[in-house]
Amino acid sequence: MAHFYVTTPIYYVNDVPHIGHAYTTITADALARWHRLLGDDVFFLTGTDEHGLKVQRAADTKGLTPRQHADQTSERFREAWRLLDISNDDFIRTTEPRHYEAVQTLLQAVYDNGWIELGTYEGLYCVSCEAYYNEDDLLPGNLCPIHRRPVELFKEDNYFFKLSAFQQPLLDWYASHPEMVQPDSKRNEAIGLIRQGLQDISISRTSINWGVPVPWDPGHVFYVWYDALINYATAVGYGSDRQRFDTWWPAVHHLIGKDILRFHCVYWPAMLLAAGEAPPRHVHVHGFLLVGGEKMSKTAFNQIAPADLVPEFGVDGYRYHFLRDQAFGPDGEFSYEGMVARYNADLANNLGNLLSRVATVVAKQCGGVGPAPAPDSALAAVAASVWSAARAGWERVAPSDALEATWRLVRETNSALEAAQPWKLQPGPEVDAVMGDALEALRIVALLASPAIPKSSEEIWRRIGLTGAVGPLDRQRLPAAAEWGGYPGGLPVEKGTPLFPRIKPPYNADR
Ligand SMILES: [Zn+2]
Repeated sequence: MAHFYVTTPIYYVNDVPHIGHAYTTITADALARWHRLLGDDVFFLTGTDEHGLKVQRAADTKGLTPRQHADQTSERFREAWRLLDISNDDFIRTTEPRHYEAVQTLLQAVYDNGWIELGTYEGLYCVSCEAYYNEDDLLPGNLCPIHRRPVELFKEDNYFFKLSAFQQPLLDWYASHPEMVQPDSKRNEAIGLIRQGLQDISISRTSINWGVPVPWDPGHVFYVWYDALINYATAVGYGSDRQRFDTWWPAVHHLIGKDILRFHCVYWPAMLLAAGEAPPRHVHVHGFLLVGGEKMSKTAFNQIAPADLVPEFGVDGYRYHFLRDQAFGPDGEFSYEGMVARYNADLANNLGNLLSRVATVVAKQCGGVGPAPAPDSALAAVAASVWSAARAGWERVAPSDALEATWRLVRETNSALEAAQPWKLQPGPEVDAVMGDALEALRIVALLASPAIPKSSEEIWRRIGLTGAVGPLDRQRLPAAAEWGGYPGGLPVEKGTPLFPRIKPPYNADR
């Protein structure tokens, strides 16, 4: 059985979940659901990153221990993912004992291999990033380029990871694994960072104690990033279950935003090589989700939470917008008007309308019983080409392409209905032929769209009578289930309320 291991970054526990976090998580979720339909053994991991100075300071402010603080804030992410029907198999918290064990095992291996040594570090530190900056990378006035706040001068005894020794090994690795980082532009960016020259990096702190203790020198804790990255190994058994780890690693798919490319495409593979482990096989990098042309940030007050949008668009309307309209890779621009337009066009007018037309005609002209499709229907060829385009889209982590392809079948089926006008015909074989084809197209659409709109797809599946006769949607297996002819006919078709009620466009919308 094929294995499919997909991860989101672990989210910083002080953050409030916003549409950017949700974007990565929904993409990972849709991929996990697609691979489950293929019959793969899937492991989908998300979680929270809970150590570091900022967490300690936030806890102090609230009069809580860091752990109590993290318990409260971490819950907000689990809540958001429940709201959005996220089907993660595990939720890792970096404060769990299993993670301490994995971090200490991995970094002890790096130390034993001679790649970690003690030194003194002095540098300009952004508390919000929890990262030191080179002066060249700062904005005028020594401001952090991300937070636009002043950095602080820190000096301490640190353990250093000899990253400089990995410049050539990393370049060799990239040369022999050209598909590791996608898209190509992001791989080139990673290679460019490595070619610029790598400096040894500080991986421990003595100035704080909220972290994983360095096993050979417990006065130090590991610096958050080098603890956090290891979560991907922890969750599949690193440090506790070698056989399980070897089952899932290194064939992982990391999904990340471009702001953490350096950590995932330079530091993480180097740490793994230093520990004697293989680097991750796939890193898929997406751009920023911009609001009003700017990156969302707490300080810019432009963060939008999923819970702000779900009441109006529904969970599936929300999921569909981000998967269909925000292509994975380049920066995307979020707009409420665009979200309404897409919802109304694809969900209310196209898919929702198709379902309600089919149910209405079947009720009136077929006695409420769905006829079987014709094997030689013109839609069969459309469905076959849609299947291969959708599969290719999901395969290359391009949900927008996969869904665009899937909606071609929705549009072609609506066109076929408009051409045949079965609602004007007398009941009989002609109507049955048209409606059988439309029901079969709906069946295939429900299947192929289910990674994006799981609940709505299940509802379509149920209304056209498939749940009992063919079995639950999530038990179907691709590619066989996508073949034309799977709708058996003779099933009760239910008329229901609109699946995607039309949303009134905002009064000031231009489109
Ligand atoms: Zn910063």
